[in-house]
Amino acid sequence: MDFVERGWRNAVVFRAILLIKSVKNATFAPCRLKFLEKSGIIFLNRETRSIDGRSRREILDWVFRKVLIMLKSLRNFFFVALASASFVGAASTSFVVAQNAEQKAAYVAPALQEKDAWTMVVIPDPQAYSRYGRNQGIFELMTAWIAENKDALAIRQVLCVGDLVESNGLQKADGKFANQTGRQMWTSCSRAFERLDGVVPYVLCTGNHDYGPDIFPEGTHYGVRSSETRDSLFGEFFPMERNPLWKDVVVECFPNAFGKKTLENAAYEFEGTGGQKILVVSLEFAPRPETLEWAKALFARPEYANHFGIVLTHSYLRPYTAGLERDVKEGYGLSKAGGAAGETIWQKLAQPSSNIRLVICGHHSTADNMEGCCGFRVDKNAAGKTVSQLLFDTQAMGGGWEGNGGDGWLQLLEFSKDMKTVKVRTFSPLFAISPSTRANAWNREKYCEFEFSIE
Ligand SMILES: [Zn+2]
Repeated sequence: MDFVERGWRNAVVFRAILLIKSVKNATFAPCRLKFLEKSGIIFLNRETRSIDGRSRREILDWVFRKVLIMLKSLRNFFFVALASASFVGAASTSFVVAQNAEQKAAYVAPALQEKDAWTMVVIPDPQAYSRYGRNQGIFELMTAWIAENKDALAIRQVLCVGDLVESNGLQKADGKFANQTGRQMWTSCSRAFERLDGVVPYVLCTGNHDYGPDIFPEGTHYGVRSSETRDSLFGEFFPMERNPLWKDVVVECFPNAFGKKTLENAAYEFEGTGGQKILVVSLEFAPRPETLEWAKALFARPEYANHFGIVLTHSYLRPYTAGLERDVKEGYGLSKAGGAAGETIWQKLAQPSSNIRLVICGHHSTADNMEGCCGFRVDKNAAGKTVSQLLFDTQAMGGGWEGNGGDGWLQLLEFSKDMKTVKVRTFSPLFAISPSTRANAWNREKYCEFEFSIE
C-alpha cells in the first residue's frame, strides 16, 4: 500500500498516467510510450495543454474526481499501482490507477426507471460488424440481448438507422477493406436480426452503403461511398413476410426506385404503454422527391392526426463535434441524382407535419470519440411543436474505422407512459456480458445520457 499512499500524496502533481478503461472510452488518445498506448493508458505531462479537444483543466478535473471516488472505497481496490517518474524521464511523479472494484460495483443492470414506461432501442449503423467476419458475433450478441430483455425493459420498438452492410455489391473482399463479400455481409446482418424475428417488429432503414451495383471495375468498392445506383439486396434479405410480426404493424409501403413495394419506404403503427398511437416512417437513403411527398401525405391523413410521428432516416444530422447541423448537400451518386439530404427532409417533411415529433438517424461517426457519434437538437415545426432529432452512429468506436464495429453500443430510449418525457441512455451488452468489463457498460457522458421532454 506504499504505492497507494505515495500516489494520493502526489495526486496534485501535473504528471499522470492513468490506466482506467473508461479513459480509453473518453478518447484521450496519444501516449508517448508505445506499450502503454496498447493498454489504453493516457499520458499527460507538464507541457500538455489539451488532448483531443479536452483542455488540461477538464482532464485534471476528471482525474481528481476519480481519485475522490476511489478514496471512498479504498478497501475495494483490486489493483492500484504507481508508475515511477522514470517512465517519463523526469523527476515529477506519475501514477497508474487500474480498473477497480468500486467501478465494478457501480454497474447497474438495465431496468426501467419509471413504472409503466416502455423502451425503444436504437441500433446504430451495423456496417462494420457485417464487414469483417470477426465482428459479426458482436452484432448477434446485441440483437440477442435485445430479445432477452424485451419483457424486462418493455421493448416495443427497435429502430436501426441503416448502413446494414459496408458494401452492397462487393464481390471480391481484399481482406483489409472487408473480408466479406456484399452477399456475405447481408447474410451476416440478416442472421443477427433473426434473433428479433417473431419477438419484436423492428424497423430498418437503408443507408448509402446499402446501395450500389454488383458490377464494378477491378479495385473499386462500389456501393461503399457513392451509392452509384439504387440497387440493393435489402429487399431480398428483408422481405415483408420475414418477420411474422410485421403484418400487424406495417400499414403501408411506398414503391422503391424499381416500382417494387419493399420496406425501404414503410410506415409502421405501434402503441405505447399508455395507449398513445405511434406512427414510424422509415425512408430510403437519399429519399426521392416522390418518397417525401408520400410520407408527408401519409402523416397528414386524418386517421394519423393524433399519432406520435417518428421519422427514421439514415443521413440527416451531424454530431456534436460537427456543430449539430443538418446535412445540406452530399456527394453520393443518389444525392446528385436528386435524393434529399437532411435539411431537405426537414423542410419538406418534418417541419410542415404537425405530428412528426422525433427524427432518428445515423451515418455520421467519429473514430473512438463518442461525442462525435452522437447528436441531439430540438426545433419547432410549423405548428409550433417541438421536433427532437437524434443521431446515433458508433460504427468507429472500438478501434476506429477498421476496429470491432462499435463496441456493441445501443441507445435505449425510455418513454414515459404519458409520452411526455424520454430518458436516453447508452449501453453496451458487449461490455455488460462479462464481470471484468461491465464497469464500462454504461456511457454516462452528457451526450449519451440525458432526458428530453415532449410538449
Ligand atoms: Zn452512411
